[in-house]
Amino acid sequence: MRCPECNKFMSFDDSAEPELDLDTDGGEVNGSARIVLTCAECGTEMKDATFAVDIDLAGSIPEGYEIEDSEITTQSAEMTTRQQGRNVFYGCAIEVTIALKVKLEAEDPNEAPAELTSLTISKSWSDEIPASEMDELA
Ligand SMILES: [Zn+2]
Repeated sequence: MRCPECNKFMSFDDSAEPELDLDTDGGEVNGSARIVLTCAECGTEMKDATFAVDIDLAGSIPEGYEIEDSEITTQSAEMTTRQQGRNVFYGCAIEVTIALKVKLEAEDPNEAPAELTSLTISKSWSDEIPASEMDELA
């Protein structure tokens, strides 16, 4: 592939850290992760892909509890590369840490509110796309 900026036959630089836009609404972490391939010669953005991120938290808390509040405390991501036959897949691997406040599920709605317990959990998420299906930018 020839780069329109530097006009060289280039290879992709796949070292850029994915751009994360994550939020949590309690039971889930949602958002997007964008990966971009740049020209290894001049850094022009050549291809990108945006993944929809959806991480379920409810399965990660103790039985009998429900999530009252959640907050992302750390997040990191890296681009992944996998060769399969002639196809190259680019992807995104995300690690998030979430601070949760959980409470015992009330069996009787008239019961006094259960005490909140703090909990920290870590979740991994990843997805990938064939290079040929990524959007061309240049
Ligand atoms: Zn270039």
